[in-house]
Amino acid sequence: MKVHISDHPLITHKVTVLRDESTPSSIFRELISEIVTLLAYEATRDVKVVPTTVQTPVASAQGALMAKPDPVVIPILRAGLGMLDGMVRLIPSVQVGFLGMVRDEQTLQASTYANRLPADLHDRHCFLLDPMLATGGTLIAAIHYLVDLGATEITAICIISSPEGIAALEKELEHLDSSVKVTLFSAALDTKLNEKGYIVPGLGDAGDRLYGVV
Ligand code: URA
Repeated sequence: MKVHISDHPLITHKVTVLRDESTPSSIFRELISEIVTLLAYEATRDVKVVPTTVQTPVASAQGALMAKPDPVVIPILRAGLGMLDGMVRLIPSVQVGFLGMVRDEQTLQASTYANRLPADLHDRHCFLLDPMLATGGTLIAAIHYLVDLGATEITAICIISSPEGIAALEKELEHLDSSVKVTLFSAALDTKLNEKGYIVPGLGDAGDRLYGVV
């Protein structure tokens, strides 16, 4: 698995404000969106294009347009939803799927409670959005879900990752078919997980900070 941790000063600045417990939800939401757009700019570097010629008012020009079928963006509910805007802003033509996953706070195991995805993901570049790569359980379950639907190219975009989560993901990927390519883009790599499975220093519960405690 290729792992890209951003060292861009703009992203670092925005992540720092995001972490601050005094940052209100309205700013938090805006920052998540902006960080995703910046991360997605790099994460979409390998999207397929087809050479195309267009006519300008002056002459014909060689260019390239994004190949069909369009990529699929899949926010993992609930917190991943806060990342969708930032991604769609960059590629408005993407198809959007949804995966609802919840982790048991005792066992930290992830399970699926809702999904809305194309039936066949063969040939579709899938972008999974989940702000916190903590134990890796949710992302691993989501990747299995997509692979079962035929996906072979999966890019995960996370705001903050833990070393434990990346290690768990890498271990799991050893058992996947070698034709499946998984790449991770993260705005920050933190120190560790605490005993409750929270990333340290992290930013707390991303879903709660986005949408409030329910
Ligand atoms: N999920 C969160 O929202 N925050 C963490 O630190 C870990 C998992």
